This record gives sequence, C-alpha cells and structure tokens, in this order.
Amino acid sequence: MNTPTSSPAAPPDQGAASTSSPLPRIAVLATGGTIAGAAPDATNTSGYQAGVVGVEQLLSVVPALSTVARIAPEQVASVDSKDMAMSLWTTLAQRVNALLAADEIDGVVITHGTDTLEETAYLLHLTVKSDKPVVLTAAMRPASALSADGPLNLLNAVTVAGHAASRGQGVLVAFNNRIHSARDVVKTSTYAVDAFHSPEIGALGWVQDGRVEYQRAVVRPHTLGTGFTIGAAWQHVEVVASYAGVSRIAVDALVAAGVRGIVVAGTGNGSIHASMQQALADAASQGIAVVRSSRVGSGHVMRNGAAADDALGFVSAGSLNPYKARVLLMLALAAGVTGPAALQKTFDTY
Ligand code: ASP
Repeated sequence: MNTPTSSPAAPPDQGAASTSSPLPRIAVLATGGTIAGAAPDATNTSGYQAGVVGVEQLLSVVPALSTVARIAPEQVASVDSKDMAMSLWTTLAQRVNALLAADEIDGVVITHGTDTLEETAYLLHLTVKSDKPVVLTAAMRPASALSADGPLNLLNAVTVAGHAASRGQGVLVAFNNRIHSARDVVKTSTYAVDAFHSPEIGALGWVQDGRVEYQRAVVRPHTLGTGFTIGAAWQHVEVVASYAGVSRIAVDALVAAGVRGIVVAGTGNGSIHASMQQALADAASQGIAVVRSSRVGSGHVMRNGAAADDALGFVSAGSLNPYKARVLLMLALAAGVTGPAALQKTFDTY
C-alpha cells in the first residue's frame, strides 16, 4: 500500500488549489462518448446515443468549473469512441500539442468515450510534446441519466489539469475520483461507474472536493521524454487473439493483407495455441513485427517465457495490454524501429 507523499516528480504543493493566483486556463476538448450521450429518458443507461451533447452544454451543468479554471472549450469531434479513427487521433494529438505550445494555456482536458479511452490516452502519453497536464475523462452513464457521472468527472478532470502537481506526470485519466497514468489504466467493467483501474499497480492518486493528491509517479518515459511524433504515416498493425481451437486463418489473412505488425492477445502468460504460433512465426520470418501480450487483463508477459521469443522472432509486450501494445508498435514502426531486438528495447523502455 502506498503512503500519500510527495514524490520527487511531483511538486510539494499538493492539496487544494490556491485562490490567490489567477485561475489556470484549461482547454476542454470534447470528442463525444457517453459523457456526451443522451437517452430518451433519465432511467435509460444502456440504450442511448453517444456523442450528441455539445461541449458548451456539458460545461453549463457544472457551474463549479468557474471556481477552478478559466475554460476554453472546443468541440473536436462527436463520436462514439468505439469508432475512433486514426485520422481523429492525428487531429486530436496535433490540436493538443498546438494548444500546449501557447503560453496562455495551462493544461488540456479531453472528454472521450470510455471504450477506447485507454488507447487514446496512451497514444497522447507517447506523443504530446509538453509537460503541461493533459487529462482525459469520460462517463459510464449518459448526460441524460439519473446520477450521471460525467459532470463530477469533468469537474475533477479540470481540477487535476489545473493543479501544479499534475505537471510532468504524463497524460492522466481522471475518473471516479482517481487519477491514473495513461500507461496503466484500463476499462474493466461494461456498465459499472467504477470502470477504470490500473491493474496490479494502482492509481497515481486521487482528486476529491478540489483536492489533488499524488501517491506515486510514473517512472517510464513519456511526453517530452519520447522520440515519437504524430504526423508520420500510420502503420498497419492488427490484434489477434489466441483461444481454444484457434486456427492460423486470421494471421495468414493479415499477412496476405500486408500488415506491418501483429499483436497477439495470448492466453494466460502470453502463451499461444500451436497452430497460431506457427502462423505468427512464419509472419515474423517475413519481417512482420509480432508482439506477444496477454488477454488476461493484468500481469506481465515474460520474454522467452511462454514462447521462445528469441527463436521465433517475437517481441514481448511486458505489462502493456494488447491494445496499448498496438499503439506502441504503430508508433515504433512509424519511427523506423524494426527488428525484434530493437522493438523489444522499445517495449522494455516505454
Ligand atoms: N460507446 C461509448 C464510447 O466509448 C461508451 C462510453 O463512452 O462509455 O464512446
């Protein structure tokens, strides 16, 4: 159990924001999701349309925002994040970088659907070129619902983004009073309001009633500490899963389609059914990057553990889940990192 202390990466002025200095200027970029969802009635929390409520309306139901920040709202997109596209990732990342380069912006909050939030967050964690806070938030219940969770999540996200201790922590996710690192956080429930966790490692800290407290810091490089950029052509990387009775058909089809990389969501500790493993070894022998991760949801994958990575030409994803491993692999390939040894170093680093 962590004890709540100031880490070396976090300035010592944690706690409630000061009221004597001018309020921080926070850009709120809306992209859609359930936080901007609407249903025909307030008791409907499953049959709603995501991404239909505009950013001004989202802000208008949280008057307390005006006590924590000066808000600069922008509607970047209005999508259900299940439909997140790489072109939108490019737009979003470029906009975040442009805003953070401006002296008058102190931080960015992004409202996002929960479905792919962890992927977008990790992408930004690796490609934002600033140490100013970037905080994603979302909701599990639509804006029209009884006990909608979006308004408080939004207030907390803006509070975190405006807090001095959030600087240099990488991209953050504020959800249900907790502050998570983009690298670690995953969605773990289909409907529960407490849907985001950082398995094994736990949240970075918490936010409540205007108070922000960090209990640990991120140790792997991020934001200004990476060489990754948005702008290079997206690389074609797909995810396949291993399971009882799986064939090699999906892998062979991806190879025929010309993918540059395949991430396998392996069973257990990243083990792969013999049929699929042979197909992946064949793919690797053709120069396709093959990354071994686990479908389990927590824990890590040991290099040369459940598969002979050295002999097969595979890379271990470590503690990244398959979807985050895909993000890193796409960025690494775009940056010109190739071959199992160099890619393994990348996965061991980020
Ligand atoms: N399908 C929604 C989305 O990801 C789910 C949510 O936001 O909770 O946009």
